[in-house]
Amino acid sequence: MPQKGDSSVATPTQVARQIALFEKCRSYTKAKEVQAAGLYPYFTPIQESEDTVVKIDGKTKVMMGSNNYLGLTHHPAVLEAAEAALHKYGSGCTGSRFLNGTLDLHEKLEAALAEFLGKEACLVFSTGYQANLGLVSGLVGRGETVFLDKLDHASIVDGAKLSFGEVVRFNHGNLAALERKLAQNDNTRGAMIVVDGVYSMEGDIADLPGLSALAQKFGVALAVDDAHSIGVLGPSGAGTSDHFGITSDVDLIVGTFSKSLASIGGYVAGDEYVIHYLKHHCRPLIFTAALPASNTAGVLAALEILRTEPERRAALWENTRRLQDGLRSLGFDIGATETPIVPVLIGPLDKTLVFWRRLFDAGVFTNPVVPPAVPPSQCRLRASVMATHTAEQIDFALDVFAGVGRGLGVLA
Ligand code: PMP
Repeated sequence: MPQKGDSSVATPTQVARQIALFEKCRSYTKAKEVQAAGLYPYFTPIQESEDTVVKIDGKTKVMMGSNNYLGLTHHPAVLEAAEAALHKYGSGCTGSRFLNGTLDLHEKLEAALAEFLGKEACLVFSTGYQANLGLVSGLVGRGETVFLDKLDHASIVDGAKLSFGEVVRFNHGNLAALERKLAQNDNTRGAMIVVDGVYSMEGDIADLPGLSALAQKFGVALAVDDAHSIGVLGPSGAGTSDHFGITSDVDLIVGTFSKSLASIGGYVAGDEYVIHYLKHHCRPLIFTAALPASNTAGVLAALEILRTEPERRAALWENTRRLQDGLRSLGFDIGATETPIVPVLIGPLDKTLVFWRRLFDAGVFTNPVVPPAVPPSQCRLRASVMATHTAEQIDFALDVFAGVGRGLGVLA
């Protein structure tokens, strides 16, 4: 029998070293090299957060990298609603929506969202990722087809992988290519086009009227992921179809609570019979625990503020223009953005990471976007605007961008 201290007994680490599966983990050094160079931008722990300002490693930074578009994560009404629900319902649902996890609060939120989005029914998921996963894998079955824009969010792509249908991808925004592919498809069988309303790394808006015309011509369903559009686009802030005034032409609207709605969770909205089917066929809904009460109540409060305080959306757009105009007039390439997502094109990976680090050290938090999210020569820093940024904070960020841009030769 092996004794304590016997060197012939393998430690868990030694056992791991003998496992072929872990070989790739042992030889994965890229992230550690970037860490050693002091240029690692991921998993940075935030110690304190006050809306537009965060504290990291004891130093404050202006947060220009969140998706908290309306600045509602610290709104007193949102916090109060979340706290009251925490005490009333407890800290978790401890089960699936399908079984023991549905709360009256979930149904209240579904009714409020359906009304706000102009759809018959809505289904709340525990994340936006799962909403897309559930929508695509739940609806597109064997012998059916899903058409995806090549820049669609990973959750849509993963939903397509999880489905048993055929996946057809078209170049970003290329509706002529989509039309050719739709024409080659047997549209007597089920098919759906899924796009992002606002593209998360580019900030451009999908041509929903064009997409909806194609969906109607070929008799296929159209779904839009409004993760970055709810609270941002449209006269009432209801997203991309509201922006174009074509809500009834878009069959399914997906979204998240992790951005404008200041929490976590997601939803799919559409006709009642489709939502009813999804409720009974979505593995990412049925086989996971429900959204906690505190988050659900927080989202209800945030939705109420979104509906009743349009001035927040106006402030968001004013700040968006300030940042976009400022960066463009400094000479930065910010691509085709039309929204609060502002990508600043830098180019090669190493220069992008150095740029990110210098901004960070100077007190501006942004997110680097690198391969495989973008081609190797098109690395960028993604800045995003909040309604609650002050003009001074945006001007400060612009000054820092200008200094770093000149220092690194990105600006002349
Ligand atoms: N869709 C898009 C376009 C997104 O950007 C995101 C999140 N980054 C999601 C879906 C997933 O949302 P969640 O954070 O709620 O999982």
